[in-house]
Amino acid sequence: MSIMRKRVSALFFLLILTLIYNYIWVARTVFQRISFVSKSIKIYDRFDFPDIPNITLVESVLGLQNPGVNGSALVVDVEKLPKEEAERFRRSSKEREYSSYTSSLIPLQRSLPDIRLKGCHTLYTDFNLPETGVIIIFHNEHWSVLLRTIHSIMDNTPPHLIKEIILVDDASTDEVLKEPLEKYVSRFRKVQILRVESREGLIRARMMGFEQSTAPVAVFMDAHCECFPGWLEPLVTRIAENDTIITTPLIHGVNPWDFGIDLTKDIQLQWVSFPELRFAWMRVPQREKLRRKRPTDTYRSPAMVGCVFAVSQRWFRKLGQFDPGLEVWGAENTELSLKTWMCGGGLELVPCSNVGHMFHPHKHYDTNPPFFSRNIARIANVWMDSYNIFARNHDGTLADIGDVSNRVKLRQDLHCHSFEWYLANVSPESYIVGDGIYTGEMRNVGLRTFCIDDAYGSKRLESPIALLSCHGKLGNQLWDYTELREIKNYMFCFQEATRPVAIAICDEDQMSQKWRYDPSADGHGPVVSASGLCLSVDTTQMILITETCNNTDIQLWQWGKRREPRTWKLE
Ligand code: UDP
Ligand code: MN
Repeated sequence: MSIMRKRVSALFFLLILTLIYNYIWVARTVFQRISFVSKSIKIYDRFDFPDIPNITLVESVLGLQNPGVNGSALVVDVEKLPKEEAERFRRSSKEREYSSYTSSLIPLQRSLPDIRLKGCHTLYTDFNLPETGVIIIFHNEHWSVLLRTIHSIMDNTPPHLIKEIILVDDASTDEVLKEPLEKYVSRFRKVQILRVESREGLIRARMMGFEQSTAPVAVFMDAHCECFPGWLEPLVTRIAENDTIITTPLIHGVNPWDFGIDLTKDIQLQWVSFPELRFAWMRVPQREKLRRKRPTDTYRSPAMVGCVFAVSQRWFRKLGQFDPGLEVWGAENTELSLKTWMCGGGLELVPCSNVGHMFHPHKHYDTNPPFFSRNIARIANVWMDSYNIFARNHDGTLADIGDVSNRVKLRQDLHCHSFEWYLANVSPESYIVGDGIYTGEMRNVGLRTFCIDDAYGSKRLESPIALLSCHGKLGNQLWDYTELREIKNYMFCFQEATRPVAIAICDEDQMSQKWRYDPSADGHGPVVSASGLCLSVDTTQMILITETCNNTDIQLWQWGKRREPRTWKLE
């Protein structure tokens, strides 16, 4: 009897203990949540920031409930704001390249839905994955945006996978990013801040963070990202299988004005666009669709955006990290993409990994600052063999690209493939202006002195295609015949329509944009559409049309040949 009673009281005691523990845990979590918000507000109070809302006031005026929850947008109704707040709102969007005012109204810890593809949950259950060091560099990033990045990592990653988070402050001038930031992140044992004295630019700042990191895998991340549940495991798993593969997540756009996150999961790969040498989005090519077996398989991508990627410490070091001669911003993603492929590794997009990145409108995108031209010229001169001419032409002032001899030596020491190999094997869809299988002017044999001309500028999409006197200066009269059987001038392609041929944004899947040109030995031939009609000219209007093939000279075209088609085989 007494034994029984003892057991009952022991059980009762245990129950009480569990209840107390749960109570403390809940209370602590609630307190932490409140204190995150209140502390951030307090810090704002100490500084007179023009773009920070009076949160309590605005919350009640706008009737905010769970703003930004699950990655939703917060559209601030400016009309409802008191005058002073409306002014702050406007100023915040003007001064930054995003609405930091809106961001401040969204909790630093906001939930993101689990949008993993079916099959991802069970695929990544290995507990022995290598640890990562996450390297986040920033230059005057807004407090709320930067901290949301950190919280999202903390909240959506198994702790054992993160060894450290290294923040590299690239000489920010915002006061709140100094001592207040240190205080705030002191709650996270794993977060360190590295201060850079004078601005180094993102390339060298990332390398400084990398040097500080001691983890076998490095994750480079911009300071305006949000990680979804389960984002890291798939990236690291692929590296654990093969440490020469650089992995990238599926990137979801975070809207810079309302902070809504695009939750769609359409896969777009990236390639290096010419002549700018920036990343450009591309559809998954047919050959890659055939190679992959399951929806959760990784995609081989010719290039990457660069805002989030994971790389093994060993491989990044072996590849010579980034070219330290690159300044401020840009083209480092191109360099690393080319290097990893050409020197025996790879680059893969892992569809089970989802990360949001705020694409903010870039003032320096549009103006092509000198450092950017110089950066791409350095890369082109080291990695692109004879194709470097395209980078040189981009800007007339490329004389001084600095010393690249040790980068050339690196390429030799690593016995890397040629750029032609990269084009043929990794990025056969690459389109390089003036480098088509056939290229140059398309001269009509019947009309002799007339060439096809993309004459209508901004009205080109609504207009027929003109024939004008051949001027020999290429430009509007430059046409490339590509591996995808398109006829192309930059991003515009011939598209078969009824009679007049249209010009449209190139689309690999459009059969009406496919053409065949097989000239005879004397360099003339018909251009035949997918439906079997021939390119011809309506000579009254001097526009390009398609009609039944009839072997007349008006249906023959003279076009320069440049090179053999690139063929690729499936592995
Ligand atoms: N950055 C930096 N120093 C610079 C320029 C940029 O530390 O001189 C940081 C910036 O704060 C961001 C990252 O580098 O975290 C990438 O820059 P950005 O997002 O402007 O490039 P994008 O993603 O738009 O190409
Ligand atoms: Mn970015």
